[in-house]
Amino acid sequence: MTEAEARPSNFIRQIIDKDLADGKHNSVHTRFPPEPNGYLHIGHAKSICLNFGIAQDYQGQCNLRFDDTNPEKEDIEYVDSIKSDVQWLGFEWSGDIHYSSNYFDQLHGYAIELINKGLAYVEELSAEQIREYRGTLVAPGKESPYRTRSIEENLALFEKMRAGGFKEGEACLRAKIDMSSSFMVMRDPVLYRVRFATHHQTGDKWCIYPMYDFTHCISDALEGITHSLCTLEFQDNRRLYDWVLENISIECQPHQYEFSRLNLENTVMSKRKLSQLVTENLVNGWDDPRMPTISGLRRRGFTPASVREFCKRIGVTKQENMIEYGSLESCIRDDLNENAARAMAVLDPVKVVIENFGDEQTLEVANHPNKPEMGTRQVPFTRELFIEADDFREEANKKYKRLVLGKEVRLRGAYVIKAERIEKDADGKITTIFCSYDDETLGKNPSDGRKVKGVIHWVSANKGIAAEVRLYDRLFTVANPAAADDFKACINPESLTVVQGVVEPSLIDASAEKGIQFERTGYFCIDSKDSSQQKLVFNRTVGLRDTWAKISN
Ligand code: ATP
Ligand code: MG
Repeated sequence: MTEAEARPSNFIRQIIDKDLADGKHNSVHTRFPPEPNGYLHIGHAKSICLNFGIAQDYQGQCNLRFDDTNPEKEDIEYVDSIKSDVQWLGFEWSGDIHYSSNYFDQLHGYAIELINKGLAYVEELSAEQIREYRGTLVAPGKESPYRTRSIEENLALFEKMRAGGFKEGEACLRAKIDMSSSFMVMRDPVLYRVRFATHHQTGDKWCIYPMYDFTHCISDALEGITHSLCTLEFQDNRRLYDWVLENISIECQPHQYEFSRLNLENTVMSKRKLSQLVTENLVNGWDDPRMPTISGLRRRGFTPASVREFCKRIGVTKQENMIEYGSLESCIRDDLNENAARAMAVLDPVKVVIENFGDEQTLEVANHPNKPEMGTRQVPFTRELFIEADDFREEANKKYKRLVLGKEVRLRGAYVIKAERIEKDADGKITTIFCSYDDETLGKNPSDGRKVKGVIHWVSANKGIAAEVRLYDRLFTVANPAAADDFKACINPESLTVVQGVVEPSLIDASAEKGIQFERTGYFCIDSKDSSQQKLVFNRTVGLRDTWAKISN
């Protein structure tokens, strides 16, 4: 397959191919325009992969532009996190970072141009009246009494707005378009409003801020964007996008195209809802590994390649859709199955004593069953070990391929052992399983032809390291929490379970960037925030297979 064949194809790329073939454009220039009012989530990753991916594949450019026209809701913390998330995903923006606020002077100039053309006026109806006058989808709107002010009066009043002469809500600038348009956005949309807020980029220079619809198209044009890609809810706004650019003196005429947003089951994707989860301490911050944020996924152990692969698999269409959470998980599972080193960890330990074994031996174990190039590691095998409580039964039928009293099982990478007797505490809980081992069985089957089918994992009891292991599950119990009356009531109480386990000593040096397969258990990574050599903390990235459907049905 050639590189071009390996590229995703979608309706937007087809439009670009045609524009290039027709000579409408010589090169492609896209942008990713987040509002710095929260952390990026997996939905943004779809937009990032689309915009930056197109620039990469067409040798074009993609700008990172902060759409920062709402100073009260924005913060430099978000600006910084967005930059690092885009880079972590493997993309680099063209040139400097752009801010819509860079264009406040020009935007102000274009607003004056519209006033001079009789296409904008200063409104003094209250917000509530404006809403009332706007009409409904079935009833036309009503014109404001302020709509017919003279150009001179509008210029003076707009200057008064800029100079701080109006309180918030007392006046705004509106485009004069059509109060009976069938597109609500065309019913004299607000272009500027008064906000006495300090802006993270422009400080206190402005007390009027431009609205999204006015800002976005002009920012695109100023940056020479050719294809402005956004989600479907902006479909109607395209009329306004084109209206603004047609009515001001600006060369470039970018075009807006809409695609369907990513919706993912068992989670929420709106920044407002995600922010509520954070501020109400329902999760542990924006990067909580249960969050669908890029930083949450990173901390959970997702790799950039797995997120890009997910975005490739879901594709880009105009069809509204809801993707199963399992599709995201299968991308990281496929990646880690291939690339994660194997190790052993016991999450619910019960002690095994091998009575006929001496003291200690060091075994060499492969890091990956199919990849000898990933090397081997030393694992201490000792007289006392831990195995999973669940891997032992006093009695069991033939289907149970683990350790049973009086029977044999193989310890992964080590010997065949036989459970001889057990010891229980006063409550009847097994405390120790006393075993014998067959010293002829290291790396080979018993010589007398005895068949030992099961293989279980283990960790040395005195050489193993205690570790906290965080087991994550879906954050919400229902597929579409956003549709529930109270999405917070749908939080899965078992979305985080913390257990105290024991891991093999080699994991003391594990890095937070590299996923590990705990054999027979799942894929894990070191928690980048809470883990230290004194106290190891692991996050479960994903189980070995998808068990959600089975449990919830
Ligand atoms: P929210 O509604 O959660 O606040 P937003 O769309 O307002 O999200 P922005 O920061 O404005 O967030 O988004 C930046 C870009 O990412 C926009 O072009 C937007 O269309 C795109 N985007 C946001 N959410 C999704 C999603 N779920 N799927 C695809 N693209 C998305
Ligand atoms: Mg937005």
